[in-house]
Amino acid sequence: MTSDFIRELWFPTDRCFIAGHWVAPVGGGTLPVENPSTGEVIGDIARGTAADIDAAVAAATEARRGAWGRMSAAERGRILARIGQFVRGRADELAGIEATDVGKPLTQARADALALARYMEFYGGAADKVMGETIPYLDGYTVFTLREPHGVTGHIIPWNYPMQIIGRSVGAALAMGNACVLKPAEEACLTALAFAKLAEEAGLPPGALNVVPGLGDEVGAALTAHPGVQHLSFTGSLNVGRLVQTAAAQNVVPVTLELGGKSPQVVFADADLDAALPFLVNAGIQNAGQTCSASSRILVERPIYDEVVARMAERYRALSVGPALDDLNVGPLISDRQKQIVEGYIALGADLETAAEGRIVGNAPAGGHYVAPRLLAGVPPAHRLAQEEIFGPVQAVIPFEDEAEAVEIANGTPYGLVASVWSRDGGRQLRLARSLRAGQVFVNNYGAGGGVELPFGGTGLSGHGREKGFEALYGFSVLKTVAVRHG
Ligand code: NAD
Repeated sequence: MTSDFIRELWFPTDRCFIAGHWVAPVGGGTLPVENPSTGEVIGDIARGTAADIDAAVAAATEARRGAWGRMSAAERGRILARIGQFVRGRADELAGIEATDVGKPLTQARADALALARYMEFYGGAADKVMGETIPYLDGYTVFTLREPHGVTGHIIPWNYPMQIIGRSVGAALAMGNACVLKPAEEACLTALAFAKLAEEAGLPPGALNVVPGLGDEVGAALTAHPGVQHLSFTGSLNVGRLVQTAAAQNVVPVTLELGGKSPQVVFADADLDAALPFLVNAGIQNAGQTCSASSRILVERPIYDEVVARMAERYRALSVGPALDDLNVGPLISDRQKQIVEGYIALGADLETAAEGRIVGNAPAGGHYVAPRLLAGVPPAHRLAQEEIFGPVQAVIPFEDEAEAVEIANGTPYGLVASVWSRDGGRQLRLARSLRAGQVFVNNYGAGGGVELPFGGTGLSGHGREKGFEALYGFSVLKTVAVRHG
């Protein structure tokens, strides 16, 4: 049954966007759209197939040969910036769509829409500023480098931050002149389709962006295996990341993997606790903990351990969980399956001290996928709850005795995405900035507001390659060296 909400949207929801056309998927299949706040099915999206991926890759290849491939970098940049303006103009509507589709509280969903706008502005501005260099060489030669697009880039994204991840990966790829095939997560396609509509309205040439919704092991696998794709960008789980990298190896194409994390915040006894506390908690419960860079481990120096647990617990008890459109602190999880996974982890912590829990509001629909945030104290560093990515609103507080032990615990998981240190000691701030194993380290903050300018990516099982910032433009391009012998 299609709800009024889906029927009244300003873009087609049951179509693929290929070569500038809104087309029914080959085979005509559909997948349900569920509202996680209620558990109700509210409409359908297209269930793409390998044949749709073939058509999308062909359209992208054609776009590279045609108007898009010939367009000046400045003109590409103008179009991206215009997409950014259109996204900004629709930010409230996009927030409502995302809140309904993925259960993200409205304020957080609106921040995602504005981040998408900002990515398009940033990459629009950067499109004509990526330059090569001249290289001093032998007498009689002039040598220079060119930064060229890969060609067709494949983008496979998860459900937790669709708009932000489209911005940082598709935005950067388009800025460099690649033509993109985007496979959104089956649980969260609506804002990807809305983005395609806005790109079309902003004048992006046909085929420069193609969107094929569908299942991971159908369209996702077809995209990763396609010989017409020259670069793959994957954001998602470790296990699927391994499949994507294996597929990329067959075609010998570069791949960026943005995977999970178990990111620590390390709090020393000299920290400004009033400043730290909101970050300690928010970084764990934002988007109901379904954030790759969620801070799921809070390491606290022993002298302030009891105080930090007590003050975090106080904040936890004030957290309200409920429908995304009610815009409370925490919304539902994406699916019943994700809820089961998180509840499984909570059951694993039955032997641990629960310092506090948040509260599910009374009017939360029974079919919604709600989990009350949980703060666990005194968690041994080797415990599964302190080692594995939970992807739900659960944080583990871990005491430590000194700086050396803090670093050992912080680096003691296979992940390395994000970390932070809270201390007033400048030497310690810098020592930890160097010794913490992570793609981003924050000092006396966490996330730095998520700025689009800041290169982002992991080490270890958190993945490799960098998106965001100027750095992403290097990843989405190939360096060519030209040596001219002129005598
Ligand atoms: P997932 O790996 O299940 O799905 C991600 C995407 O991969 C989806 O579009 C899915 O359809 C597709 N997919 C599934 N099977 C596939 C296959 N065989 N071949 C190709 N594609 C396939 O991940 P998820 O559950 O949607 O997202 C949660 C995970 O994503 C977490 O581990 C989280 O940490 C990670 N994540 C990482 C970042 C980051 O930037 N590092 C950001 C967001 C999420």
